[in-house]
Parts: sequence; C-alpha cells; structure tokens
Amino acid sequence: MSFQNLGLIPSLLTAVADNGYETPTAIQTATIEAVLKGKDLMASAQTGTGKTAAFTLPLLQLLGSHSGTQPRALVVTPTRELAAQVHASIVTYGKHMDLRSLAIFGGVKIGPQIRKLQQGVDILVATPGRLLDLHNQGAVDFRKVEILVLDEADRMLDMGFLPDIRRIQGHLPTNKQSLLFSATFSNEIRKLAKTMLRSPIEVDVAAKNATADTVEQHLIPTDKSQKSELLIHLFKEHSFHGQDWNHALVFSKTKHGANKLVRNLCRAGLKADAIHGNKSQAQRTRALDDFKRGKVAILVATDIASRGLDINELPLVVNYDLPHVPEDYVHRIGRTGRAGASGLAISLVCADEFKQLREIERLIGSPLPREEIEGFEPTHLLPESKSLDRRPRPSRPRNNSVSELDSRRAKSRHSNSRRSNSGNSRNNNRGNDRSNNPNNGNTKYRPRNAA
Ligand code: AMP
Repeated sequence: MSFQNLGLIPSLLTAVADNGYETPTAIQTATIEAVLKGKDLMASAQTGTGKTAAFTLPLLQLLGSHSGTQPRALVVTPTRELAAQVHASIVTYGKHMDLRSLAIFGGVKIGPQIRKLQQGVDILVATPGRLLDLHNQGAVDFRKVEILVLDEADRMLDMGFLPDIRRIQGHLPTNKQSLLFSATFSNEIRKLAKTMLRSPIEVDVAAKNATADTVEQHLIPTDKSQKSELLIHLFKEHSFHGQDWNHALVFSKTKHGANKLVRNLCRAGLKADAIHGNKSQAQRTRALDDFKRGKVAILVATDIASRGLDINELPLVVNYDLPHVPEDYVHRIGRTGRAGASGLAISLVCADEFKQLREIERLIGSPLPREEIEGFEPTHLLPESKSLDRRPRPSRPRNNSVSELDSRRAKSRHSNSRRSNSGNSRNNNRGNDRSNNPNNGNTKYRPRNAA
C-alpha cells in the first residue's frame, strides 16, 4: 500500500514525502480512505502508530483551502502538550496548502488566543477547558464546524473531561463528521462513541492494551530506598542491554517525586529536568525543547504531562514508579518504539508496588522479565508473578498489523541495530517461563564494570 493509493492529493503526498514517510502505517491504511469519504470513525490505536497523520491528512484534504473566519475542524485533546503536538503535525502536513490552524490551551494568557482567533482559523486544536472558556466569551463560534476529532478520548475521560466534552458536543452542529481515537476502549468510551458517532467505521489496528512489539521490556526488582541510587548507577554505567542511556524519559508517580528525583540526578552530575502540571507552560516547553535538543539527557515526567510527547527516536523509557492505572504503563512505554523504531522500557519495582505490577502484567497478558542488578538487590522481596492469570494475547490479523508494517520500515531505517543482544530479549516478556529459575524468577545483570 502506498500513500498514492489512499487517494491523497499531490500537496499532501509531497508533504508526506518531505517527512520521509515511505509507506502508510496500519492505522493510516485503515482510516484515511474512510475519513475522505466522510465516514465517522472509532479507532483504537497504540501511541506511536502514526494516528495523528491518520486523521490530519484526510482532514486537511476535506477542508481544501482557507475560507471564512470560524473553525471548520475542531481537534480536542486532553493535554496542552498533545494539542501543541497535533498542531505541529497539522502545520507540517499542511505546509503546501492554504489553511490556517491554531492551538489553544490553558496555562497561558487568553488575550493573544482571542486575537489570533479573530484573524480567522480553519482548524482549531484545543484542550476542553480553554475551548469552553473561549466559547463562553464569544471568541469562538462552533456553528461552522464540519469535522470533530477527539484524540486520546480514554485519557480525556480519565482526566474528568467528560462533562466538558458533552458541553462542547452540545454546541456543535449535528450534521458534522466525528472521529474518535482512543488507545483503549472502555465501556465509558463505547458509551460516549454511541452518543457522538453515526454508523462509525471501527478500526482496531492493535490488540487491545497491547504494548508495542518494538519495545523490549524489563523489570528490575529493588528497594524503594535504593531506586534513586540505582537509577544514577544505571545512567553512569551507560549500558544495560546494550542500550545507550544518554537520552531517557523517566516516569514518576508524583510531581513532588519528579522534582526530588531531578535534584538527586543533578547532584550526581547528570543533566535532568522535570515536566509536570505544577510547571508553567513556558517551563514545560523549555524542558521539552532542551530534552529534544539533547541539552538535557533525562526528562522526568508525570503521566499527565507525558501524554502527547512525541520525541523522535526516544530509545529509553524508565518507570521510576509504576503507575496506579495499569493502562498508563502502556502509554508510558509507548513513548519509545514509536513508528517502528526499537526501544527499551525499564521498570524499577519495589515490594510495595506488587499490586500495580500484577495489574500491569494482567493487562499486557504476560509477566515482565526480571533482572536484578548487583549491589541493588531488594531486601524486601518482590513476590513472584507466577500466580498471574496469563490470558493469551489476542492475535492480530496479519493484514492489519502495525508491527508487520512498522517492522518493515524499522528494518530499513534501523538496519544497524543499536543493540547487540536484543535478539534474545525482544519478545521474552511473552510466555517467559521462569519457574525453573532458582533466583526467585530473577536473572542477575552484572554491570559492565562490576568487580
Ligand atoms: P503518532 O502516533 O501520530 O504520535 O506518530 C508517531 C510518529 O510516527 C511520529 O514521529 C510521526 O512523525 C511518525 N510517522 C507517522 N506516520 C508515519 C509513516 N507513515 N512512516 C513513518 N513515520 C511515520
């Protein structure tokens, strides 16, 4: 399948080629034609599968060229970062077209946003709260909206935006086209879909709650009190499973924890910064830019702040704390291994987190392979996951497989794999039988310079 076969116009094909995309990803193949035909859509796609282009490309084509002052397409996202990210994609893919777009979100002054809206906009990307504020002030008119996109709908519901979404929906014309994207489909999402979609095409390109096949996952059991030192050790050691630890996104459960960890990392001479809800938008943008440009090696983020972060070729994600909501594990590790690139996800897990671990392992359908690090073995043992309900992972239809398409692209882009020993561990998180392992199911990793 090529982008030409999907019926895209030359200006979009040029933009796609400018971006170096050779073939559409599975979600793009499955959705672009249907959206171009004006169908409503309910799509489940993992993070990093190319879902933004899957709705942005046909949306740009449907709108054609600039007309009027009020938005004709509305993309609603749960976070500021995702809004900025989606807007950046619209600018990138629409660079050979004459369309105006704008991202609006809270945390920054409303005045400049009102002035920009007055200049006229075709596509508005917004977080729910600020969008309603602007609507209430009469700064934005929804009557011309032809296309509505709800991106990361599951996260919007998790963040309590359902009433806002319903309010926005109530102001929109009824005869619009609606597209709903969600990493996972809970009953609530299905209920919402019923109220907003008309005979939608359902697309499910990835097994539900599956983690990207391109991400190698490991768990390091340790004590809570040792986590900070262990992380510093791993960063200084610079090699775990052949991975380069020069650029990593680290997840902390709390804002306070993120700040504390950054202080410890900096004290140890590492370049780290934090991104979370207590930081101003300017601080968040700067931290992300510094991280993307390599000025900062380690970005410590909370779950909410991390949504929508698209950092090309991010090789490593570390779960310093396990998330409370198991789906967040899938989102977190989806920050690496995007669009076919390979990635490594490491979780530092202490005995207190066993309950969360079990929930995550149930969700992804397999236990995470364990590896202790010499000198950092836990004194409070992390119980084995052997009583885990190992439900088989749902199999994926071959013609609809993200991994198949993406690994093809990955092969060409990453022909020289960074990892020397990735082959034996790529999928060893599946059906990994540790029952004969004398070391409580854990294997031991000896640091390169270990005595
Ligand atoms: P998304 O899932 O929309 O966040 O996209 C994840 C990453 O995939 C982004 O860095 C995109 O630039 C990239 N991407 C999207 N479509 C393609 C494609 N067809 N080929 C290669 N990379 C892509």
